[in-house]
Amino acid sequence: MATPRKATPRKATVKPVIPRKAAARAARTPDPRRAELRQRLRQQTRRALIGDGPAVGIDIGGTKVAAGVVDGEGRVVAQLRRVTPTTSPQGVEDTIAEIVEEFARDHDIVSVGIGAAGFVDAERSTVLFAPHLAWRHEPLREAVERRVRARLGRRVGRRTVVENDANAAAWGEYRFGAGRGESRLLCVTLGTGIGGGIVTSGSVQRGRYGIAGEFGHMIVVPGGHRCECGNRGCWEQYASGNALVREARELARANSPVAHRLLDMAGGDPEAITGPLVTEAARGGDPAATELFEDVGRWLGIGIANLAAALDPGTVVIGGGVSDADELLLGPAREAYRRTLTGRGFRPELRIARAELGPQAGLVGSADLSRGWG
Ligand SMILES: [Zn+2]
Repeated sequence: MATPRKATPRKATVKPVIPRKAAARAARTPDPRRAELRQRLRQQTRRALIGDGPAVGIDIGGTKVAAGVVDGEGRVVAQLRRVTPTTSPQGVEDTIAEIVEEFARDHDIVSVGIGAAGFVDAERSTVLFAPHLAWRHEPLREAVERRVRARLGRRVGRRTVVENDANAAAWGEYRFGAGRGESRLLCVTLGTGIGGGIVTSGSVQRGRYGIAGEFGHMIVVPGGHRCECGNRGCWEQYASGNALVREARELARANSPVAHRLLDMAGGDPEAITGPLVTEAARGGDPAATELFEDVGRWLGIGIANLAAALDPGTVVIGGGVSDADELLLGPAREAYRRTLTGRGFRPELRIARAELGPQAGLVGSADLSRGWG
């Protein structure tokens, strides 16, 4: 007797997970890894064209223009400083052209990099907004190239690029300073405000419109201290040179006995207290100055924990004048970071390191970026 055969199950009709049209669309969308590869190839081509020769780096600040000729190893081989003549873009552009002309006399310049505090467009040619210079949509690259040509009757270098100053500083530290070899690097520059830069897999992350890395304006205290940007409670109101000085002066104005040493050092005038003065007092063991750095350091650590939650970097380099206090600032920052980090105890901790290039980071970084890196 034949055993009954099992009924063949009906073939299931499975709908494709991705409809055919969507699949075709996905195939047309460029693979991000390919896009990255293409960008790297473009960079390599540019670098091959421009080479590793001397590049000019220019750092435009609110009060001074610092410039240098930087070699392929990140060394500053010549240097110049000028007072920022005026807040008008034309005045500053003339100064930059003058500096390039001077350097071009003794050096065979390959490219020019200009670092400016403010928003720089994604094409790296126009300063969209510079808070300290009253610049609005200033086509800086073109203006400088035109002026240099007019002065020398020729082009200088193969190209000129404009960078956000904090991006340039981050790049400088990545290539030649405390961030060497780090595949996910953040740089936090503590000056009057906070500058931020992101370097990932050998590229500066500028964002879709060129404005990424404005860490200083992340709000950490809703309704807190008023910021220059118009909002309240921005991170830079708590963890910057301005924050340090504001707190120190407030302490001195309150006539607190703990502030007597700071006041003495400032000749009895609370308004004469500066960041370097607080640093000096803290180094000398003054308890009030030490506490002020602990407070700023704590805010710094909390902000770094926020950045870690969003970006998961391996190293955060701390630069700018406030970082001169070194462990007086970084010690409390590390402690606050550890206490605030989300998932603490279950994830590797990033490294918080002091910047190595000092005030030259921006200049060195913009020069190097102009060669086609980043
Ligand atoms: Zn702000």
